[in-house]
Amino acid sequence: MTHQNLLDIAQEYGSPVYVYDAAKIESQYQRLTDAFKGVDHLRVNYAVKALSNLAVLQFIHDLGAGLDTVSIQEVRLGIAAGVDPSQIMFTPNGVSLDELEAVAKMGVQINIDNLSILEQFGTRHPKTPVCVRINPHVMAGGNTNISVGHIDSKFGISIHQIPHLLRIVENTGMHINGIHMHTGSDILDIDVFLHAAEILFDTAKNFKNLDFLDFGSGFKVPYKPGDIETHIEELGSKLSERFNDFQKSYGKELTLVFEPGKFLVSEAGKFLVSVNVIKQTTSTVFAQVDSGFNHLIRPMFYGSRHEIKNISNPEGRERFYSVVGYICETDTFATNRRIAEIAEGDILAFSNAGAYCFSMASNYNSRYRPAEVLFIDGEAQLIRERETFDDLLKHQIPLKKTVKA
Ligand SMILES: *Cc1c(COP(=O)(O)O)cnc(C)c1O
Repeated sequence: MTHQNLLDIAQEYGSPVYVYDAAKIESQYQRLTDAFKGVDHLRVNYAVKALSNLAVLQFIHDLGAGLDTVSIQEVRLGIAAGVDPSQIMFTPNGVSLDELEAVAKMGVQINIDNLSILEQFGTRHPKTPVCVRINPHVMAGGNTNISVGHIDSKFGISIHQIPHLLRIVENTGMHINGIHMHTGSDILDIDVFLHAAEILFDTAKNFKNLDFLDFGSGFKVPYKPGDIETHIEELGSKLSERFNDFQKSYGKELTLVFEPGKFLVSEAGKFLVSVNVIKQTTSTVFAQVDSGFNHLIRPMFYGSRHEIKNISNPEGRERFYSVVGYICETDTFATNRRIAEIAEGDILAFSNAGAYCFSMASNYNSRYRPAEVLFIDGEAQLIRERETFDDLLKHQIPLKKTVKA
């Protein structure tokens, strides 16, 4: 996608708008599958929560991926996108037994991450194959909000509870067909990942009739030039070899599963906003844009850094700006960033806006959620309309009568 493509999209669909580059999603998918071409049975399940637009799900499914879901609604979106339930994995955390049963009934592979529900589910449905999510207690990544493998994490069944897990399996007669881990986002160190993988292999030995091992996700993507990212090719060659060895000793063919979100869609996304006001104060220059953390919460929520380019004046002299939103509380996208000189009305493009951006957007301050556009085969395709005032009123019920004396 060129700057001109993006400017045309902003012109046609207005701002703010999310734009996703289908070619980038495809090349990331290719990179991942190439890295693991040494494994006979590889399955990539796209983590829907990263970006759950129907057209995106369809596109990624067409590439050959299944889906990883965390709510029954995501499962239903996947089915609405044309994905067969047998290609969907349900990996929730702390959901009710009712929800798990409803999803299992749809023919979706379920993944259980606590012993209480495992015991209840196994007692009631001993014939339904279940995957279990273990917590290897391996720390991945630097951000505690997105590291889920540590000892205090609410995710997964602790590896120290394997004996208890085995007792439940034995007592209920249930069939465990997969072992899963997801150590969290932003894996920097391949050795840490491989260490967690060894724990998964060790755990897997306890189960006689597995079909797959699911290594989760958490691959780190670059947010700015020179950023460290997971070396997927190196991970692919090392883990493939270990996986093949394990498979041999296990004595049964297994499928290796990954469930990337960010890796597939983060870099494909751009978020376009326009600058409403340039405000010079005694200490800084603010560029105030027609959006806020209601549309892109990651900088305020996780402190994440998104590159920002002035695509209306890309060759302009660089100056320092604080880019802020219009939400009526602290709403900072970036401070003291070098950006090509900005004039009011310019279009700024945020990078890495594919994952956890639109999917976390809200109507705070009663703003509309933005439109979404998929750039595919050289053409812009609108895949979600901008909301309208009717959307804000929808589901609201006005007071029946006012209580005036
Ligand atoms: C969120 C999530 C993922 C995707 O993580 P990324 O860092 O976006 O790749 C994968 N698996 C599970 C269980 C998740 O909750």
